[in-house]
Amino acid sequence: MSETNQPNGSFSSANSSPVGSQAHNDWSRQFAFTTKLEEVVRWGRRNSLWPLAYGTACCGIELMSVMGPKYDLARFGAEVVRFSPRQSDLLIVAGTITEKMAPILLRIYRQMLEPKYVISMGVCASSGGFYRAYHVLQGIDRIIPVDVFIPGCPPTPEAVLDGVMLLQKMIKDGHPRPWKKNWRPPYEC
Ligand code: SF4
Repeated sequence: MSETNQPNGSFSSANSSPVGSQAHNDWSRQFAFTTKLEEVVRWGRRNSLWPLAYGTACCGIELMSVMGPKYDLARFGAEVVRFSPRQSDLLIVAGTITEKMAPILLRIYRQMLEPKYVISMGVCASSGGFYRAYHVLQGIDRIIPVDVFIPGCPPTPEAVLDGVMLLQKMIKDGHPRPWKKNWRPPYEC
């Protein structure tokens, strides 16, 4: 094999190794790689989630700390918080959802463009928490499909980061989402 890296940072096309040989492959890996288009799209999707923070109670405050400099959600590419469903692809529901609020949450979810994902943060959003009452929705999965449930009251910032990383892994692996595929709106809104 002849020269590879040039002083100006470019690569020489001169390579005397036969195409397909180990030496030729090693040389070509210095400046090129192969992948599938689907993989590249997933890579982009999982590293550029734009969250819509739907905070209604104390979990919303806890979510703010995840966005702050100490825990820094930006490290995961998900710091661009948008309060417009048209510009978001990750709905983070953080707090108690009342029955009166449920149609609003459903409408916001439906306004988001595909592909979209949902994280339920804390026990109130996930199950109604300690509000065993007629006016509180006993889990947002009764109206919208949820990809990741984060336990806790409130969940720690580390738990939220873990939930985001789990979602990223699901996107990376192309994990099947039957809860989303089979989802139908419970009512018109
Ligand atoms: S889960 Fe706990 S911290 Fe979160 S909204 Fe409910 S009561 Fe507040």
